[in-house]
Amino acid sequence: MDRIALITGANKGIGFETARQLGGAGATVLVGARDEDRGKRARAALEGEGIDARFVRLDVTDEASVQAAAKWVDAEFGKLDVLVNNAGIAVRDGGYLPSQTTMTALRRTFETNVFGIVTVTNATLRLLRAAPAARIVNVSSGVGSLTWMNVTQGPMRDMVSVPYPASKSAVNMVTVMYAKELRDTPIKVNAANPGYCATDLNENSGFRTAAQGAEVVVRLATLPADGPTGRLWGDLWPEAEGEGELPW
Ligand code: NAP
Repeated sequence: MDRIALITGANKGIGFETARQLGGAGATVLVGARDEDRGKRARAALEGEGIDARFVRLDVTDEASVQAAAKWVDAEFGKLDVLVNNAGIAVRDGGYLPSQTTMTALRRTFETNVFGIVTVTNATLRLLRAAPAARIVNVSSGVGSLTWMNVTQGPMRDMVSVPYPASKSAVNMVTVMYAKELRDTPIKVNAANPGYCATDLNENSGFRTAAQGAEVVVRLATLPADGPTGRLWGDLWPEAEGEGELPW
């Protein structure tokens, strides 16, 4: 059996492109989407490119849907080689300043971006352990790097907001903790920084394509046995050119 890869929030953006690239490389891709129509449209688009794609309804904030998705993966495949925790939101509610942060925005953001990752990972961990050498990729962001955000110069200087950056810092810690728990297994757990990509998340303001962002994710999803675990890795803008390891 080929590699089985589950991507959350795979109906568009970086998640869709990740499914497309993993599927193009021969994996069976499980298109996780909270909306059936959007998910099935994405599956059909991937199938149209000759990719073995399946749709699975999965809302990362809905424990029952996550458990049902994991049960379905177990029944169909009995294992999971790749889990890409990609689903994420940026809530625009209230002002950007920390002093203007609403609890609604903070809770909603963490529900999806952080609690969603723990929910999906725990629901699928048995299946990931059943694969020969599974890879978990948590899609984080450069704005989750405390080092990068705590600067007095450059493009990040005036980036001031609590919910989204704090959620991605939490994703980074979650990544390190799973990597520690799984360090004596073949499973690798890393956080990806796709870079600033044009997607609906940022009203398509990014200067990279979703496909370029997905390349980072796919690299971590296909790491060899001697690859790293427990790292934040990806696009180095605005600190440097190209890809590499980011500081926490
Ligand atoms: P996007 O185009 O808005 O895609 C987000 C995806 O997440 C959509 O498929 C969305 O589904 C899904 N989603 C949201 N809430 C969900 C939930 N509760 N359950 C399941 N799926 C859910 O944004 P994107 O830029 O591709 O974002 C993908 C990931 O990359 C996110 O984690 C984001 O934080 C991260 N990221 C993006 C950038 C960037 O510049 N774009 C940079 C760094 C990191 P619906 O279509 O149903 O809403």
